[in-house]
Amino acid sequence: MSERGVLSDLLGERSVIDMGIRKDATVEEAILCSHRRRRHCTCTVLLKDIEVDLSRMRDCLSQAEEGISLWRKDSRFKNQFSAQKTWQLIRETKAKCSWSRGIWFSQATPKFSFMMWLATLDRRSTMDRILCWNPSIDATCVLCKNAPEFRDHLFFECSYSFQVWEHLIKGMLRNSYTNIWSGIMLLISDRKKEKKKLFCIRYALQSAMYVLWRERNKVKHREKLMPKVVLKKMLDKDIRNKLSLLRSKRVKGMEGALQFWFVTRA
Ligand SMILES: [Zn+2]
Repeated sequence: MSERGVLSDLLGERSVIDMGIRKDATVEEAILCSHRRRRHCTCTVLLKDIEVDLSRMRDCLSQAEEGISLWRKDSRFKNQFSAQKTWQLIRETKAKCSWSRGIWFSQATPKFSFMMWLATLDRRSTMDRILCWNPSIDATCVLCKNAPEFRDHLFFECSYSFQVWEHLIKGMLRNSYTNIWSGIMLLISDRKKEKKKLFCIRYALQSAMYVLWRERNKVKHREKLMPKVVLKKMLDKDIRNKLSLLRSKRVKGMEGALQFWFVTRA
């Protein structure tokens, strides 16, 4: 039963009983019952060694009973927790979206990315969606007051938004300029583009969408719509500040991004 072999073979049945262990005891019972140290007159050294072994095994058993937390990682268990591995194990995996990197990218502003992610899933409460549960509501776009409001119109087709979007992006895209939602998704997902150009397109898009959605909500709450000229200047300044920050942080691949932005303003 121990590393030394079977106790009854080593000591004989009488000596095992003398140690306080039943003849037909299990290994666990032998470990737990042999806590009474006895005086041994014969085979003293061996009996004492066996008692020490049993004591050590009893300590191991009591430690095991206290329990050790183990975390599953793939098919193995480890005592270190990994949020990433645990999330991968509990989540339902689906096919990767082609546009995900165009929205969740390095150096992005999280609130802009989140806003755009919701818009991409068409989960913003645009008037076409509100109409589904409130048919009596006026669904006219509050920015142009000239067409029904739905996602693609609000951000890129509306006469107000269109000019903001064109001002920010046309100088960079030239012939590949578009204000069609599916075309814009392709633009931000094209990783063959130069890093600084891709960043400028993605960041300008998210900044514009965030600010346009904020303006739309302001008008909904009876506030005044910001003039297009002011909005364009404000967005341009915000984007320049971001590019300037990336330059000061020496972000790889973004060294000439601010100059690129200035050149494409013509
Ligand atoms: Zn409109």
